[in-house]
Amino acid sequence: KMLQGGAMGKTLVFLGTGGTIAGKAAFAQDNVGYTAAQLGVAQLLEGVSGLESAVEGCTVEHEQVAQLDSKDMEHAVWSRLAQRIQAHLARDEVRAVLVTHGTDTLEETAFFLSQVLPASLLGDKPVVLTCAMRPATALTPDGPQNVLDAVRVALDAHARGVVAVCAGTIHAARYVQKSHPYRLDAFDSSDGGALGYVEEGRVRWVHECPVEGCDAPVPGLDQPSGWPRVEVVFSHAGANGATVRAMCASATLGAPAVRGLVVAGTGNGTVHRDLEAALVQAQQQGVHVVRTTRCAYGAVVPGAVSPFAVGQGLAPFKERIALMLQIMRG
Ligand code: ASP
Repeated sequence: KMLQGGAMGKTLVFLGTGGTIAGKAAFAQDNVGYTAAQLGVAQLLEGVSGLESAVEGCTVEHEQVAQLDSKDMEHAVWSRLAQRIQAHLARDEVRAVLVTHGTDTLEETAFFLSQVLPASLLGDKPVVLTCAMRPATALTPDGPQNVLDAVRVALDAHARGVVAVCAGTIHAARYVQKSHPYRLDAFDSSDGGALGYVEEGRVRWVHECPVEGCDAPVPGLDQPSGWPRVEVVFSHAGANGATVRAMCASATLGAPAVRGLVVAGTGNGTVHRDLEAALVQAQQQGVHVVRTTRCAYGAVVPGAVSPFAVGQGLAPFKERIALMLQIMRG
């Protein structure tokens, strides 16, 4: 689809959130012992040679929304990020918003944004997340190339919705997952398949960009301290119900009451009987329980006898977000 409003925009907005892409190590050879989130987004962009020509005459704006290692991602940052992205996408002159992010929770942020940003804006203008596996100080950092690739995607007439760009591959928010702790090509699109590739500055699409989003505002989205507490628990050999029982009792200890539990089950969402007993009890107390699979690929196939509902067929940590939003939407 050719863009209308979006194609006229001549401004690209970069929102910085930290991550390894903004990280620094003491030695150029050190790709692991660095500190994430050290460079501001302005400084990070200064280090991308070729950016000026890649933006094809667009004005570049940047804003530091957060500065953290994405392992420490907070709901408050998500809330603010969604607000800032929405504000920028609503500006006629803005063509796309790019977000620099840590790799650890990029898939969660991408999915969250894809569910809460207005579909009417995402249908016209893309939100492109990018990242790096090596710090900015590395002998051969991957951040600058990823930023250039993300810009190519952001400017492409077919780009829309929320996508992630890493190591020359374009992933949809719903399917992107970090699948390797070290390699530069650390992401895959699970069963969804990549949306496309960026090769020598050219974008080659293999699938249309899905547009999710939601035009009805999510109640309480701007009050992150009040978001419902939804936890993920794993089933495994030797699993038991102690953690679930403790979480359900936590309200009596002053912690927020658990409103939802996502169980990452074995195989087709099967759950150890001892853990299952505790989850059934939680469900009887009014806690929402959703079952998923801990397998890296596929989704739970409904039909097996289980006391728990199957959710949207998402990976456990994305299902957690979906359940949280479902509770917020009442
Ligand atoms: N821990 C880092 C982060 O997620 C890892 C990275 O960005 O590659 O911020």
